[in-house]
Amino acid sequence: MSYLFPVYSKWEVEPISAEGSRIVDKSGKNYLDFTSGIGVCNLGHRPANVQKAVESQLNSFWHVSNLFIQSKQDEAAKLLAEAAGLDLVFFSNSGAEANEAAIKLARKATGRNKIITFSNSFHGRTFAAMSATGQKKIQTGFGPLLQTFKHLSFNDLAGITEEMDEGTAAVMLEIVQGEGGIHIATKEFLNELQHLCQSNGALLIVDEIQTGMGRTGKPFAYQHFDLKPDIVTVAKGLGSGFPIGAVIGSKKLDEAFGPGSHGSTFGGNPISVAAATVTMQTIFEPGFLKEVMEKADYLKNSLKKLLSNPFVADVRQLGLMAGLELRKEAAPILAQLREKGLLLLPAGENVIRILPPLTATHEQIDEAMYIVNAVFNEVHEKV
Ligand SMILES: *Cc1c(COP(=O)(O)O)cnc(C)c1O
Repeated sequence: MSYLFPVYSKWEVEPISAEGSRIVDKSGKNYLDFTSGIGVCNLGHRPANVQKAVESQLNSFWHVSNLFIQSKQDEAAKLLAEAAGLDLVFFSNSGAEANEAAIKLARKATGRNKIITFSNSFHGRTFAAMSATGQKKIQTGFGPLLQTFKHLSFNDLAGITEEMDEGTAAVMLEIVQGEGGIHIATKEFLNELQHLCQSNGALLIVDEIQTGMGRTGKPFAYQHFDLKPDIVTVAKGLGSGFPIGAVIGSKKLDEAFGPGSHGSTFGGNPISVAAATVTMQTIFEPGFLKEVMEKADYLKNSLKKLLSNPFVADVRQLGLMAGLELRKEAAPILAQLREKGLLLLPAGENVIRILPPLTATHEQIDEAMYIVNAVFNEVHEKV
């Protein structure tokens, strides 16, 4: 019997070590990990340069509190702000906390209440982030929810035109809905959102918690489009596995987050900041991101071939974030893939989500696709 609340349906895999794209479990079995710890280990497991920075910080100090000057926080904030084309950063410990801060910031800065979010979105499990999330299964049993959020259909231009008004504090969205099934925002939809936010004085919040940190081949996914968000949230990949999130905002919002208005005991802790700094220095290099795009094209070619399979309904991909929509339940197939040594994720009931480390090699992509094809052929033969 486990002493943990059974909130997770756990896999039959217990890791004992991990390096690069591989995990070894208790029984000695070797797995190719194309989950990246759910979009966290974007540089693979235990990248040497991150480990070195963390070890060095472990030898100086671990925690002092945010009352002290910590110039390394400032350096990390500068890297984030410059990469996003924004000005100011607040560090949190997680994605939900980053979104929570973004929601508070948007409400206070505009003095307005309504925030528009979308169906199938995922913004986290804290109360406001859960209320913002456009998935009933995340919210069931926890009501009444915050009344701030209006959930509209994703990529539906008519819906946003109808709902946006001068009482709207903000629109919050993911450029690629991760947990919700790898749904990619269209260019037309984003252009219209940008336009409506500007004309109504509403803030544009982009949740880059899963799509940021090079996942899609740009530092942030909105940079594939002509978009100028006022607030960007990040977490997952930022610390390469050390817990850290951030709100990145425009300087026009500085008064709303003045002294004493918001805070966090652990937010921006020195160990996570050390990990995040090296992670950013590595990922934001144009040469690194070029390779990510190149590998994404390579993966795309193999994934497209799966469409000839009768139970593959759709393939959606931006950079190294891909979804295979199946005409059947994903979970049993994911179990078969694990059996053969490949770790992939679900995204909803019938989507397989592929999040390789950005450092995965072509050979590892080939290996993953070999296993996917083998399992799909088996499934196909059974029907
Ligand atoms: C994972 C995720 C979150 C929540 O992050 P936590 O660190 O689990 O709180 C929020 N938004 C998106 C898009 C995510 O993928």
